[in-house]
Amino acid sequence: MDKKEDKMDAIVALCKRRGFVFQGSEIYGGLAGTWDYGPFGEALKWNIKEAWYRRFVWGKRNMFKVDAAILMNQKVWQASGHAAGFADPLVECKKCKHRFRADQIEGDAATKKKCPDCGGELGAERKFNMMFETHVGAIQDDSSISYLRPETAQGMFVNFKNILDTQHPRLPFGMAQIGKAFRNEIAPRDFLFRSREFEQMEIEYFVNPKKWEESFEYFRTEMKGFMNDVGLTASKVHELEVPESDRAHYSKRTIDFEYDFPFGKKELYGLAYRGDFDLKQHSDFSKVGLSYYDEETKERFIPHCIEPSFGLDRTVLAILCDAYTEDEMGSVKEEGKEEKKEKRVYLRLHPRVAPYKVAVFPLLRNKPELIKKAEEIFKTIQKEIPMTDYDDNGNIGKRYRRQDEIGTPLCVTVDFETIEKGNGVTVRDRDSGKQERVAEADLLGYLKERIGGVN
Ligand code: ATP
Repeated sequence: MDKKEDKMDAIVALCKRRGFVFQGSEIYGGLAGTWDYGPFGEALKWNIKEAWYRRFVWGKRNMFKVDAAILMNQKVWQASGHAAGFADPLVECKKCKHRFRADQIEGDAATKKKCPDCGGELGAERKFNMMFETHVGAIQDDSSISYLRPETAQGMFVNFKNILDTQHPRLPFGMAQIGKAFRNEIAPRDFLFRSREFEQMEIEYFVNPKKWEESFEYFRTEMKGFMNDVGLTASKVHELEVPESDRAHYSKRTIDFEYDFPFGKKELYGLAYRGDFDLKQHSDFSKVGLSYYDEETKERFIPHCIEPSFGLDRTVLAILCDAYTEDEMGSVKEEGKEEKKEKRVYLRLHPRVAPYKVAVFPLLRNKPELIKKAEEIFKTIQKEIPMTDYDDNGNIGKRYRRQDEIGTPLCVTVDFETIEKGNGVTVRDRDSGKQERVAEADLLGYLKERIGGVN
């Protein structure tokens, strides 16, 4: 596949064809910037979240999970600076009235003044606040204004004291949250990359200001570890040290992790040192003290914060782009027929994130003895590897292709040798297409080893 657009088109088409991702409100013509996840997309997301919890939260005694409300008191956004400043530069074409984010128009100074769609003259730049505004309660006045949160982070800062009072943590400690965020993006684009409703996985890690650098370095390494966990190719991930002029005024250091998407090198995640900005602002605005008392040094201070921030949907997209592969493979040789090579599409997903780890088939669908045995084997595997599929639709070649397209690493087939000679089952490897015969008694152990202990 030569053209980059072709690869994105192929990925979007596969997502729809196989049930990963659909356009939001599709039967009504869609709603720009929204996407609905189907069964395999949802499973992929679930697996990514689990990998994230495994690396950053589970088993860490100083990490506290929260699940804060999406609607928050409007004062939260005044304190955080979003009400006044969460805005992008908007320009509108005087001719076709299309709107663009000024900083995303590509080209030289002259091109940037022209509409990318019709070449018409662009109007003056103005600020556009990206928060979705709504009203809480029956009365619609200024006091009832609320917003769909544009980030999950603030839900953690406002619960800082609750965690201190109920969990009694010692610094350094973190709060972690996965949840929806909403941004009225001027120009949603590039499939899941820039949407108006998306999910974030964020950590606010509170530290003694004298020791911020060691925690920053810790998360820098852990974030790379996480990308490896979900199977992203390390050479496609780049660290960008954000220069001071592009950082928020309170941030002493920010690193963006960028990924080589087919449409360019773009931000995947961010790691920011936010100082004491957030807790200080909320303390000032709410008049509630948000300081920490250090028993050892007998000092009281406002902790500083390191924020690793992950976009879940951007992770899904990066994983799909990384895994999408086309090759040529011989179809399964049927007796008496010539093997012919066919174009094949498959997702080279890491078993940790693959929606199904294993699929089980009877060789033929009209042989009750094969079906009975296959169902029995499926039940045994499924007890230990819950994300296992059973399929007896269509012919065996089609079933392999389907599992290839959804990224299932291993397919188990029950054939006549299984039942007539007790000669085990075949296990087919997604990437090489090679089959191995495995004795029934060894099957579970073999599968577990091949998928690396994930299930
Ligand atoms: P960008 O510059 O691309 O708009 P950002 O710097 O505003 O992103 P952050 O505010 O740092 O993004 O948000 C943290 C993470 O949330 C991003 O690294 C990204 O993974 C994700 N994210 C942000 N905006 C969107 C969006 N519109 N759609 C999908 N994911 C998003």
